[in-house]
Amino acid sequence: MTDTLLPLLKSTFGFDAFRGRQAEVVERVMAGRHTLAVMPTGAGKSLTYQLPSVALDGCVIVVSPLIALMHDQLRGARAAGIRAASLTSADADHADTRQAYREGLLDLLYVAPERATGEGFRALLDSRRPALFAIDEAHCVSEWGHDFRPDYRLLRPLLDAFSDVPRLALTATADRHTRADILVQLGIPQDGLVLAGFDRPNIRYRVMPRVGAAKQLAAFITANPGPGIVYCPTRDGTERMAASLAAATGRPVAAYHAGLDPERRAQVQHDFVTSEEGIVTATVAFGMGIDKPDVRFVAHAGLPKSIESYYQETGRAGRDGDPAEALMLWGADDFARARMRLSELPEARVASERTRLDALAALVETVECRRALLLRHFGEHPPERCGNCDNCLDPPRQVDATVLAQKLLSAVYRTGQSFGAGHVEAVLTGRSDERIVQRGHDKLSVFGIVAGEEARLIKPLVRSLMAREALATTEHGGLMLGPAARPVLKGEAPVLIAEPPARPARRGGRADR
Ligand code: ADP
Ligand code: ZN
Repeated sequence: MTDTLLPLLKSTFGFDAFRGRQAEVVERVMAGRHTLAVMPTGAGKSLTYQLPSVALDGCVIVVSPLIALMHDQLRGARAAGIRAASLTSADADHADTRQAYREGLLDLLYVAPERATGEGFRALLDSRRPALFAIDEAHCVSEWGHDFRPDYRLLRPLLDAFSDVPRLALTATADRHTRADILVQLGIPQDGLVLAGFDRPNIRYRVMPRVGAAKQLAAFITANPGPGIVYCPTRDGTERMAASLAAATGRPVAAYHAGLDPERRAQVQHDFVTSEEGIVTATVAFGMGIDKPDVRFVAHAGLPKSIESYYQETGRAGRDGDPAEALMLWGADDFARARMRLSELPEARVASERTRLDALAALVETVECRRALLLRHFGEHPPERCGNCDNCLDPPRQVDATVLAQKLLSAVYRTGQSFGAGHVEAVLTGRSDERIVQRGHDKLSVFGIVAGEEARLIKPLVRSLMAREALATTEHGGLMLGPAARPVLKGEAPVLIAEPPARPARRGGRADR
């Protein structure tokens, strides 16, 4: 079939060949088979329904949640000579579009999920059988996905009403759970999954503890002269970081977040896209729909929301295929905050959110290949080492900290689960300051049971135990035991951590802010 499609690919889009697994997806849907295509951003998902829209009789219906992206695509499709239209709240010509659909004058019709699930739309499709349903951003149908949209759940009756019309679900971000759920929710058979390669071999991944973000990032940026993005967890953070990095590096740095007025945002975006050295400190609001192939680095000043978001955000680096860097700084407090937020979630979401956090914890904690872990998360079977991540380039030594972890957890328990890491460390190392004596903590069996030599492992260990939820924080910031503490205390869960780097000369200021 590819033989007949190639000339169409060339004449419609000007491309000489299919990329990755595009051909497979197109062939499947042309043969009328339900399909879930999981392909990273930039892999060319739109082509997998745009080409069939030209090749097949009848109109392809594209369900898509973002009006702005829809209109971009619409322009692109029309530029390729495809007869495309959209039915969204931003379109004034609904009557004309419906008429064109009924007369069979459309190849491609974009529609938002809330409209697609309405009575009127169903009636429209009854007037003429569609050729294909393309469901973009299909992870929105799953509660396991990072962007669940209830409207997507209501699509199923529409799809089932046209059960002989093939379905093509598309997403860039679906882990194993989400993928399985999409298949079930949209009625696509198990063997309908087409998973394209997620590897971005030119991106070098580095993940390290945050011990002073501004300083660490300034050094990183100085070593990376090209344009880049620094993701910060908060709006204020983007502004402070911009000022600090500009001062420290002398590079043009602009802050970007949803609180800025639209003109300012457009300006920052425009400056960045045209710059060869510019840096944007941004919240995750920045990046979607930005077409800049030569981004040389993406840094995270704090823990990203999920492995999916991490992959998507770092994926904005090095689209041109040249070497690019991804650096993530994380702290125990990132996990503490994220785990705290779990308690505010509706019961039904807690399990999936916790799984997501555990996956992030595994990524930051691993002493093995980061890329292999990422790719396995997306269901691939990568080689054990990639040679282009921090752990492959400079393998950390592992230390067995199981016994130390037991001592630490006991100290947290015996001091009443309300003191911060500093106090617990002081108890363990036998520093009898006033606060300790006052509380009688110098009389505890855990007082002074950690030798000076081992003390350097305490901070990284707290981070590690926090990430794996053996430790949690109280609402006042004290340490308490988490659900994973028991197996550690009982010796059922070994605790291996990466040997911390030799301690730099101690300066004032708190670590791990
Ligand atoms: P996605 O939706 O997967 O993020 P797009 O559909 O926006 O990706 O495509 C990304 C880019 O790749 C677009 O510029 C598109 O024109 C281009 N592209 C898609 N398929 C091919 C192909 N077979 N050959 C060359 N370029 C392609
Ligand atoms: Zn690696």
